[in-house]
Amino acid sequence: MLAPPPPLAQHRPASPTALIARRLPLAGKVVGVDPGHNGRNWSDPSYINRQIWNGRELENCNTTGTETDGGYTEALFNWNVGTDLAADLRAEGARVVLTRHNNDGVGPCVNTRAQILNSAHVDVAVAIHADGGPPSGRGFTVLEPVADGINNHVITPSYLFAATLRDDFRSDTGMPVSSYDGVDGLQPRDDLAGENLTKVPYALIECGNMRNATDAALLVTASFQKRAALAIAQAITTFLARRG
Ligand SMILES: [Zn+2]
Repeated sequence: MLAPPPPLAQHRPASPTALIARRLPLAGKVVGVDPGHNGRNWSDPSYINRQIWNGRELENCNTTGTETDGGYTEALFNWNVGTDLAADLRAEGARVVLTRHNNDGVGPCVNTRAQILNSAHVDVAVAIHADGGPPSGRGFTVLEPVADGINNHVITPSYLFAATLRDDFRSDTGMPVSSYDGVDGLQPRDDLAGENLTKVPYALIECGNMRNATDAALLVTASFQKRAALAIAQAITTFLARRG
């Protein structure tokens, strides 16, 4: 004979366990988002050409970034993906630290961006770029740090994050890994302030090649930009869940 059905539980207060299970996946996490360059960097060469120490050598404070043959700027692409990503991360419960707050300004310098992310003690940080590669080359690359003393403690988690980011971006956006840079979408770099100065798990993604006509046709669309942001958000969520 059948046991009587259990009493209905809809009106019981949720147990602490149930409340924890319903927490947003990024609740309590802090995520750094660095949209590369800035929309008016071209207007102040004396500022962006000043030399800063990037942990290994001198480097320009910032650059204008690249653009498509049609004149769509990398700075705008980075800003759109960065703000879409920030919204996606906040919806998952994260606090987001952005390195710039509009696309109408100059800078900040690349070393200042690293300082912003380090001093906020973010749990993970991503820099968003698009490349100005050879016109015949397609695809995206994730640029990883190389141990230099300053970043030694975050090399292992940065490589884990970079691999997760590569996997999710490839599967969720339709953009192939680069045909001209890195190996299977990953490229260590020791000449960039973001990589050299980071004290938090960090990777930089070149989301595609703005100088390639096929990539450019994707990169300029809002639908691809939103897909890119969601893929990056997914990688951040997966990476932070694995770290607990
Ligand atoms: Zn760039």
